[in-house]
Formats: sequence, C-alpha cells, structure tokens
Amino acid sequence: MSEEAGSVFGLNVLEKLRSAYKLDYEEFVSKFVASVTGSPFKALVATVLSQNSTDKAAIKAYKSLDEEVGVDPFKISSVPLGRIKRCVRVAGLSDSKARAIKSLARYASSSGDPDLKSLMAKGPEAAREILTSVKGIGPKTADVVLVTFGVLETVPVDTHVKRVASRLGLVREGAGYEEVRKTLDALFPAPARHEAHLLLITHGRRVCRSRRPLCEICVLNDVCRFFAIHTSTATRNAVSRVRAKRVG
Ligand code: SF4
Repeated sequence: MSEEAGSVFGLNVLEKLRSAYKLDYEEFVSKFVASVTGSPFKALVATVLSQNSTDKAAIKAYKSLDEEVGVDPFKISSVPLGRIKRCVRVAGLSDSKARAIKSLARYASSSGDPDLKSLMAKGPEAAREILTSVKGIGPKTADVVLVTFGVLETVPVDTHVKRVASRLGLVREGAGYEEVRKTLDALFPAPARHEAHLLLITHGRRVCRSRRPLCEICVLNDVCRFFAIHTSTATRNAVSRVRAKRVG
C-alpha cells in the first residue's frame, strides 16, 4: 500500500471505529490509573498487571496491591517477593509480574525520581530506552505508558490490536511487535495514534473477538481481508445490501 493510500485507509478505519464506539477510559487500566493518580510509576505497575489478563482482573490486582502494600516504590522494594505475588495473583502470571514490579520499584526508588515524572520529561527515545532496560518491562508496557502520558505518539500493539491488524490484512501472520507497530503508525496520523490504539482494543474485545468474530455487524467488514476470504458470497451480498440501504 502506498503512503497516501495507507493514510486514506487509516483515516477511513478511524472514522468507522469512532462512529461505532464511545471510549470508556475506565476499561483501560493504564489510562484509568494514570488519570486518577497522575503517576507514571503507578501506571507502569497497572500496565504490567494487565499483561495477558483482562483489565478487570488487573484493576482488582492493583487495588489488592495498593491496600496490602501500597503502590509505592519504597514500600514495594521493602516487602518480600512472595507478598507481592499473593497480592497480584488474581491477574495471573503472578511470579513474573511480581518480579517485574519489584525491579521497577527498585529502579524508581533508587533513581531519585520515585514517580518517574522526570523520566517522562526526558523525551520518547530516552524514556523508552531506560524503561525497557528494567527487567520485566517490555516495549509494549513502555509504549502504553509513554502514549498515556503524551510522551510518545505511537500505536502500542497488544493481542487485540495485533489480531485486528492481521485480519484486516495489514500485517503478515507472525509479524513481530515492532513490525506491527510501525505499520500501524504509518496508517494513523500521529496525534490520533493513542485513540486508534484504544479503539482497536475496544473493537477486538467487542466485535473482532478471537473466537467467532461478529463479522456481519462489523463496521470494518467492507475493508477486511478476513471477511472477504472466510465469509460466504451469500453473506457478503446480504451485508452489502444492508449497507446500501443504510447509505441510500
Ligand atoms: S470483518 Fe470480522 S475479522 Fe474483519 S475486522 Fe470485522 S470482525 Fe474482525
């Protein structure tokens, strides 16, 4: 796809998703924690908890950690790993998440910048490099927090974003994190990339679900490769007739 065709396609997808969904920030744990606390450290902890988990379970784990220990780098550094593990168990993968949270707390408490606000002021490249050098913090976690705080304009790629991009035919099967992110960044205008990320997640959760996607009611079915390949001609014709009626 040429650069120009890509940005027309991206704007078209963005418009369709905007018309379909009203974003509720409480459904996104990182966004929610960032807006309530204003703390990049706390948003990072929330984002770690949301990996391979639902945001609902991540919020429960975050609240449990907050009540039992406190989402504070000095407090987290001073308690045994097992205690963190017990607090975050509800979000799954408690061993690796507790270890990542401990590493992050150690970094934040020794950096002289416990909330990591000064880190955000270092700019996107430096902040990303420092965050991803902390054990257990990967590019997706770093990107989610950097876009949430307006430091970076990108489309972080989670499992929903990747599935939708792949089904639309934008990326090849098995494409890695950076490949998908760069492809999506090229489609969406920089100031709309965070919104595109949240809309694609919402679409993946509600309609383009992993199992049995609801293609017949999907606002993107006229631009989707999966729909074109895996849906019968009769269904595609019926969907086109309904669409034509609406437009007419
Ligand atoms: S048409 Fe189906 S596969 Fe394509 S984006 Fe919509 S729900 Fe997903």
